[in-house]
Formats: sequence, structure tokens, C-alpha cells
Amino acid sequence: MTGMMKTETLAEGQQMGHLANPREIVDYNFDVAARSLGLSESQKGLLKEPFREIKVKLPVRMDDGTVRIFQGYRVQHNGARGPFKGGIRYSPDVNEHEVRALAEAMTWKTALANIPFGGAKGGVNCDPLRLSQGELERLTRKFIANIRHVLGPMRDIPAPDMGTNPQVMAWIFDEYSSRQGYSPACVTGKPVELGGSVGRNRATGRGVVTVLAEHLREFGLALDGLRVVVQGFGNVGSSAAQLLADQGAEIIAVGDIFGAIRGQDGRGLPVQELAAHTKREGSVVGFPKGVPIDAEDLLLLDCDVLIPAASECVLHAGNADRVRAKIIAEAANLPTTPEADEILERNRVSILPDILTNSGGVIVSYFEWVQNLQQKSWDELTVRKELRQRLVETYRDVSHLASHHGKTLRQMAYSMAIERVLRAEEQRGA
Ligand code: NAD
Repeated sequence: MTGMMKTETLAEGQQMGHLANPREIVDYNFDVAARSLGLSESQKGLLKEPFREIKVKLPVRMDDGTVRIFQGYRVQHNGARGPFKGGIRYSPDVNEHEVRALAEAMTWKTALANIPFGGAKGGVNCDPLRLSQGELERLTRKFIANIRHVLGPMRDIPAPDMGTNPQVMAWIFDEYSSRQGYSPACVTGKPVELGGSVGRNRATGRGVVTVLAEHLREFGLALDGLRVVVQGFGNVGSSAAQLLADQGAEIIAVGDIFGAIRGQDGRGLPVQELAAHTKREGSVVGFPKGVPIDAEDLLLLDCDVLIPAASECVLHAGNADRVRAKIIAEAANLPTTPEADEILERNRVSILPDILTNSGGVIVSYFEWVQNLQQKSWDELTVRKELRQRLVETYRDVSHLASHHGKTLRQMAYSMAIERVLRAEEQRGA
């Protein structure tokens, strides 16, 4: 496996050890691309500044009768290419800086996938694992009631992200529709019974596997026999792991927020059984056919492919040099700090960048939106075929242009996306 070509270094003043939050990751990736595209200061301002940011107070009646105040955020970064689009995250780490960074990453992701959406993100600062279903429902309804004036099928369309799922999307659909009239296209990632698309739930994981397979194909390699480590065993991580195992890869270790495990006697984990255990117990920890390992060591295991599928900034200056994977497939958003990027590049680790690798979810969200607007539903084969075609074409374009221009996949992906958004902004006029 070849590593990436070295083309850019950290800018002067951005010393090793200083960059480690989501905002700095998107800023750095943008700046590298903007420099190579020769963007003017006013073009950079046009592209970087978010269109609208909302912070709302969410008083929620808890099951014990008390009222707790949560903070909700929605950032609409850029809508030049279509309605704003982006997930809603429920996590104790949610804050306005994180949401702003993730919203911007969505702008580049939708542009790279060439789907007619802009970029947005939302979140509520809460721990969903400590809320009852009733509390989660009341929180979700309050959030949507408070931001509904900026949402809508032609305005801004939320979707699932960390800590949210099809049930949360169902409440969003119901809350919005009860005020605005039946509007299935106001949110994606809904249950199929309410107008969700078949194939949406596993689309991000499926996309990760598709991009990885296409990358391997360039080197005459296949998924069969690949040794894979997955961090995060939620929607994305567990889907990717199951699809990989179905194609003959060995999932040698996985982890979640509670801990990490590896297979017994150096063998792969039985992924289906592990998924059933996780569904029952809420964690991979305690899986009887796994051996507990230190969660810190998970990312450093000797493997062919490492899939970060949890939170941001997990690969950083403090651990990147000890990563032994040959390929990193970024299923999570913004998992690699710029410092780690440089170290991994130097160590010839191939990085499949997040805005390409995890775009399967938003692509199938786009299919769901199209189906809702047309009041039609596609079968699963059509969804999979269309998803695969879009991802393979995008991967090939990025890869071809990256080697032609001597850039990394990440640099090329950002450049292509930024150019598309700039063109749309300039064509629309000031
Ligand atoms: P999820 O809530 O379903 O699962 C998250 C998993 O990560 C859980 O297993 C959780 O325990 C684990 N986790 C969380 N914080 C962790 C930590 N600090 N260390 C180790 N494990 C941790 O979320 P998801 O939808 O699978 O999303 C995972 C990642 O993929 C996020 O970065 C998200 O933004 C990104 N993503 C999701 C989608 C989607 O369609 N759901 C699309 C694109 C990108």
C-alpha cells in the first residue's frame, strides 16, 4: 500500500501540538485548499462565514417533575447549492464551536458528492444515554418547535448523527408536520413506515465500505482477509463492521465510549453476535467472545485498516506516530487533526477523508428527500446501485485528480468541493 504524497506542510506559526479541535481541523483543511486554488480574501470570506447560527433555550419537563434547561444549536453554513442539510447530534460534548465546524464540513461534503444541498449541523447538549424515551421525545419536540421557522423541505433538512436515530427523526417529522402540514421531506433518516428510504440506516457504513473497496481495487487488493479495527460501534461503525465481515474481512477489535475488545486467540470477532450483544447491553463491553483491551490501545493495533467511527480529533499528535494501520477510513467526521495528518502522511498511511468516505449517509438522505418530494419509493437494489455509482465516480475523480496534481485525497476532495460552492456563490451574485 502506498502512502499519500507530501505536498503541503503546516503553515508557519501552526506549531505541532497546538491544533486539536474540530474548528481548527476544518479551518486548516480549508486554508490548504484555498491556498492551492489561489482564493482571494473576499472569496474566502464568502465561503467561510456561516449563513445563520441559532442557539435556543430548551426547558424540558423531566420524568421526576423537575424542569431542566438544555441548549440547542443549529448552524446553517452555506446554502448556495441547495437547501441546508446536516445531522442533529445529541451529546454532552455538543457546543457552538463543534456544531459550526461540523456544519462547514457538511457544505464541502454535499458539494463533493454533487448533490443539491448546502451544509448545516445541529445539536443539543445532553447525554441521550441518561434520558428516558419520554424525556428524549419532549426535548426533540421542544428543539424543533423552537427552530422550525428556519427548517423545511426547501430550507433546511435535518438527519441523524451521533446520539440520534430514526425514532428521533420520526418525532422531528411529526412535530414539524403538525404545525406546517404533512411534510415528510422536512427530515431524512426517518423510519421507512413514515417515508424513510430503505437503505438509509446502513448507508453511511455501506458508503465507507464502498470507498474502501474502491481504494483497494486501485492496488489490486480486495476486502477479503483484510484485518480491520473499528472505533465506535453505533450506527456507522456497526454497519461498516457487519458489511465488511460479510465480504470476508476480519474485524479484529472494536471499541465504544465504555471500552474496547478484541477477538479471542487473534481471530476476528463474530460481528452479528456482537451487534446483538451491543443492542441488548448498550455496549461492546462484556461480550463473552471478546477479550477486553485498553481503549487507548485500540487505535494503535497492528491492522490493515483502522476505521474511526466515533467522535472528532481521536487521531492527534500524541498518538499518530504509533498508529500501525496501513489505511485509515474516516467514517467519523473530523477524526484526524492536521498534526496527525502530517505524521500519518509521513509514515505513508493512506487516509480516506471523511467528506468522501462517510458521504453515503447524506447521499441516501438525498434519495429519501427526492422520494418524499415525488411521493414515490425506490426499492433497496435501486438505492444501493445509485449510492455505489455516485461514490465510486466521486472516489475515482478525487483519486485521479489527486495523483495528477500531486495532492492528497483530502486536499483534492476539499479543493473540488470548495470550487463547486464558489462557482454557485458567484453565479448567484451578491
Ligand atoms: P452513534 O451514536 O450511533 O454511535 C456512536 C458510537 O461511538 C457509539 O458506539 C459510542 O459509544 C461511540 N463513541 C462515542 N464517543 C466515543 C469516544 N469518545 N470514544 C470511543 N467511542 C465513542 O453515532 P453514528 O451515527 O454512528 O456516528 C458516528 C460518527 O459518524 C460521528 O462522527 C458522526 O458525525 C459520523 N457520521 C454519521 C453519519 C450517520 O448517518 N449517522 C453520517 C456521516 C457521519
